[in-house]
Amino acid sequence: MGDPLAQLLQGTWIDPDSGQSTGVAISAIAIQKSLRGHEADCVAALGFGPRLAVVSDAITHEVLGARVEDALRSLARIESVRLPRGVHADMESVAAVRNATASADALIAVGSGTINDLTKFAAAKDGKPFAVFATAPSMNGYTSANAAITVGGHKKTLPATLASGVFIDLEVLARAPARMIRAGLGDSLCRATAQVDWLLSHHLLGTGYREAPFALLAQDESALFEAPERLLSGDPEALRALARTLVLSGIGMTICGGSYPASQGEHLISHYIDMRAPAGRAEYLHGEQVAVATLTMARIQEAMLEGPAPVLRATSVVEQDLRQHFGDQAGSACWNDYAPKRLDAAGAVRLSQRAASVWPAFRSRANAMHASSSRLESVMRRAGGPRNAADIGVGAAFYAGAVRHARFLRDRFTFLDVADDAGMLTGRFLA
Ligand SMILES: [Zn+2]
Repeated sequence: MGDPLAQLLQGTWIDPDSGQSTGVAISAIAIQKSLRGHEADCVAALGFGPRLAVVSDAITHEVLGARVEDALRSLARIESVRLPRGVHADMESVAAVRNATASADALIAVGSGTINDLTKFAAAKDGKPFAVFATAPSMNGYTSANAAITVGGHKKTLPATLASGVFIDLEVLARAPARMIRAGLGDSLCRATAQVDWLLSHHLLGTGYREAPFALLAQDESALFEAPERLLSGDPEALRALARTLVLSGIGMTICGGSYPASQGEHLISHYIDMRAPAGRAEYLHGEQVAVATLTMARIQEAMLEGPAPVLRATSVVEQDLRQHFGDQAGSACWNDYAPKRLDAAGAVRLSQRAASVWPAFRSRANAMHASSSRLESVMRRAGGPRNAADIGVGAAFYAGAVRHARFLRDRFTFLDVADDAGMLTGRFLA
């Protein structure tokens, strides 16, 4: 079968949807037990030019940034860009990064979520190439061509530069904070729920669907889920499975030209929490929220897949309801996204008939790809990760509201829509 990651880099991976050989426009991905002493070779192979800016924050500079800068001095003139601790991925920070890297030919990020997002977005704005040295296995954005940037108080997913090189030193990852490692596991947990949601939309609405991103992940998922506690004890092979999963998940999104394979109902719930969490709540990582939301989605999917085809009703929600819940501006934006999937009486009859005719075929495909909520829950428990609303710093009532209202945030059609329109988004599914 071979290694899909190596094959993608060579352009010889066979895409199961098309049967054609496929690659990814990333020159190098190195996931090694240690990269110490090899940093300059990694970057030299990318042919970036004589002036490099290395972007880190106070913490990642100490963890790895200083070492990378020292190593790259044999190669290029280095601009050391050190952002303050706790920097946010917002437009102000983007401006600061662009300003500080103005004379550089290419940008090298040393960090994880925020530093990676800022650097690849700044690189895109200035049309420069970019590479990243990872400091934590906390999210799947190292190999995706978009960035989560806060614009005017709202987190947006914006086009960014795809990394030319992704360099992962497992000894460095082993020293990452436990919460960041658990967050990466959490962001990986949703493979099954996202796949089932995406397939639901395909069967009910006839939207596109691809097997390719999930085929990429199949080899590593069992290793990752079988011994999640090993991630926290620094086992390099466990960390390798997580790093590969995150890298391949990002490539799956890149191949599909969108986040569909890695972001469905569970990410909508997390997005709602980002938008509306009560002021004063401590900061939680994306993957921590996704872990909890994935368990919710898995329970909803399980219950509905066990039952008969759902009978859907017309939606009573109107724009004013969303403006009332989200505020005028955000409520109108939600309405624009939600309106295309809103069911009137005739639409509800049509979709119910469609569900009745496709349900047996959909169910058998979905059951084959589904991971049980109890299995996913045990993976997070064994890793010591978050499993319920309290674990991510929100109350039960807020979380129930997040599950009920998340579907209004995007036009993406998921089990949250079907469950709500079938009158099943109640009680035990909201916890
Ligand atoms: Zn995610």
